[in-house]
Amino acid sequence: MQGNRSRDTSPEVAIRQLLHAAGFRYRVHRSPLKELRRRADIVFGPAKVAVFIDGCYWHGCPEHYVPPKTNSGYWRPKISGNVARDRDTDIRLKAAGWTVLRFWEHESPEACSATIAAAVREQRAARAPVSPGPPMPPPAQPS
Ligand SMILES: [Zn+2]
Repeated sequence: MQGNRSRDTSPEVAIRQLLHAAGFRYRVHRSPLKELRRRADIVFGPAKVAVFIDGCYWHGCPEHYVPPKTNSGYWRPKISGNVARDRDTDIRLKAAGWTVLRFWEHESPEACSATIAAAVREQRAARAPVSPGPPMPPPAQPS
């Protein structure tokens, strides 16, 4: 089906496939915070990393968003409302200890997935319980 094919080749799916191939596991289209009710596209729960792949048009990409000439009285506030909501979502998630990563749909999936992988690894390391490690060897005694 045409609709399915275009969905399967979306930048978001390409990014997910790259992450999955690299061994990462995640949830998709979940709200990182139950009370927030705003879905992130890719969510790494334990690492607290939320990823949003923003559509160039709906989220006002500076490179691709062109304000519509017709009916701008309707569209302009709608797009700026989305952008304001995105910033508000970022602030709320960060306040709750989440790392928020946003990408434009026009960005390279390879570059996006590499950035996401690095952030998840970093957060996992930062959140890993501190282990005492192996016992220190006794200091060498001068003979
Ligand atoms: Zn764009």
